[in-house]
Amino acid sequence: MERKHFIKIIAGTTGMITLGSFNKITDLLEEQDEKLPVIFMGHGSPMNGIEDNTFSKRWKEMGKAISIPKAVLCISAHWLTNGTKITAMSQPQTIHDFGGFPQALFDVQYPAPGDPTLAAETANMIKKTSVGLDHEWGLDHGTWSVVKNMYPLANIPVLQLSIDYNQPLQYHYELAKELSELRKKGVLIIGSGNMIHNLRMVAWDKMNVPNYGFDWAIEMNTTFKKYITDKNHQALIDYQKMGPSAMLAIPTPDHYIPLIYTLALQDKEDNVSFFNDELVAGSLNMTSVFISNKAMTKPLVKAPHQNDSSTIDSIQH
Ligand code: ZN
Repeated sequence: MERKHFIKIIAGTTGMITLGSFNKITDLLEEQDEKLPVIFMGHGSPMNGIEDNTFSKRWKEMGKAISIPKAVLCISAHWLTNGTKITAMSQPQTIHDFGGFPQALFDVQYPAPGDPTLAAETANMIKKTSVGLDHEWGLDHGTWSVVKNMYPLANIPVLQLSIDYNQPLQYHYELAKELSELRKKGVLIIGSGNMIHNLRMVAWDKMNVPNYGFDWAIEMNTTFKKYITDKNHQALIDYQKMGPSAMLAIPTPDHYIPLIYTLALQDKEDNVSFFNDELVAGSLNMTSVFISNKAMTKPLVKAPHQNDSSTIDSIQH
């Protein structure tokens, strides 16, 4: 147990600590260190990587609220491959895989190291397929736009696992389960995409209207959250059976597959919380999922009638 973790969590429970509960809190911390959360991040526009907005603020808070990982493994919607690969270089490059954005976004460098040893270990952990050790890719914006906000010092190794785009969702769900040991080894696994991601239907003139969603998007945001809460993962894997609104939400599965990786890593004892639960420009959502066996020290979801000034209430289930 690192002292700073201990202090952070104690600070977040001010007023709750009594001598009698001390052992229990200590136990809780040790358990939390044993198994890290899994997070699905709705990443949205690459600009979230450099803008200080409600979404990036939550990412920053998240970086401070959870135990510091030994490494981050990200499954990004922006690395689609034949077969499965894992980044295995010691210094992954920052990839600017977008066009039409301000120069400031192209100037971003996120010099987090890689971890070739962990890459090899992870590749060996996956039995479902032969995972290639990659030395060409790096960190695409699905990864760095989020992780840069969580860990701005770039001092935590970051790896990416690619998505074999030839495979069905059931395959990805099963492959992801083979990563579960990493949670106990101090690796923070992040799926980075968007549940609702229809770029053709984006209402560009509504980009700055908060929580603006078309009726079908509002419907699917609710439906997805219900299935996630109910742990009905099979329904989410079989999204094509959900009807026309789901087809509009997921015209192609690239941004949805990272959610499937995240859900596959949910254990029986884990709780699920949502954050950044907002629709954007009609046909996108930022709704993100936090999966953990422990409550957080700071809230990522506003309780009803709660305002932004409240920061101590924990997510409790
Ligand atoms: Zn994206």
